[in-house]
Amino acid sequence: HAKHHSSEPWALYDDELHAIAVNRLAIEEDLRAGLARARFRLLYQPIRDLDSGRVVSAEALLRLEHPQHGTLTPAAFLDVAEDSRLILPIGAWVLDEAARQLALWRRRRPDLTVSVNVSPRQVHHLVLRDQVVHAAQAADVDPAGLQLEITERVLLGAGDDVLAELLGVTGAGCGLAIDDFGTGYSSLAYLTRFPVSEVKIDRAFVAGLGGRGRDTAVAEAILGLAGSLGLGAVAEGVETSEQLEALRALGCPRAQGFHLGRPMSAEDLGALLD
Ligand code: C2E
Ligand code: MG
Ligand code: MG
Ligand code: MG
Repeated sequence: HAKHHSSEPWALYDDELHAIAVNRLAIEEDLRAGLARARFRLLYQPIRDLDSGRVVSAEALLRLEHPQHGTLTPAAFLDVAEDSRLILPIGAWVLDEAARQLALWRRRRPDLTVSVNVSPRQVHHLVLRDQVVHAAQAADVDPAGLQLEITERVLLGAGDDVLAELLGVTGAGCGLAIDDFGTGYSSLAYLTRFPVSEVKIDRAFVAGLGGRGRDTAVAEAILGLAGSLGLGAVAEGVETSEQLEALRALGCPRAQGFHLGRPMSAEDLGALLD
């Protein structure tokens, strides 16, 4: 345990850095073991059409079942997965698993889509198109049933190789959504340069809906922009009936959030489809 003497101001810092490095190695080991021992799983959060209330889509959300620490969310391991490049095999597993599940659901609901979060590395390593095509083929499902979610961070400074990769993905039929829209390095040029089909309004704006702040104006502007560009729009993080009503009043077509359904097992989501 380091003491924070003023004579050695770096002592604590060094110890902390060491602890962080050891922890990162431990997480990396957990990720490798997770892949080898099938400890990853996907939860699915329903996305509802706001006119009908129907579940029209589901977002796949990654979890790691840790033998000691229980169920871990991406906040606990995504950074390490990206830095270690383990996100490449993990991301491939996510796409395979989501496509497999989609194929089962589509027997009952041929119009259902599943949204999959994709990390910048999967795009920048130019493996995304191959991964998604492979996943759809292996599951014998139409790639159009899969939508990929990327953040604005992926597009920041992206070159023509990334553009070509994303055009490959949409050329295969997949939708492409911008996740957490409005919180990143939002550039409206992204919406025209890249083959985007949907924007997801970040829950930071949804949280202030109905109040007198500017969040309502921002949400309205994003919905207007999506509408004029012919893009789909989904509001994220709807937690109250007031927020839901405010979104309906703004003409938001789709939404997800704890108020509309928590992330749940594939089995539970399947039950919602009937
Ligand atoms: P995201 O894509 O923006 O996903 C939404 C996050 O908000 C999820 O957290 C979800 O559980 C949470 N959420 C949903 N509704 C509500 C709500 O009403 N209120 C609040 N406070 N939160 C809500 P989760 O599952 O912990 O995932 C966090 C992030 O990790 C995701 O944010 C996504 O960026 C990333 N992620 C998740 N799964 C994957 C994956 O398979 N691959 C990659 N690369 N990233 C993933
Ligand atoms: Mg997402
Ligand atoms: Mg999001
Ligand atoms: Mg988010």
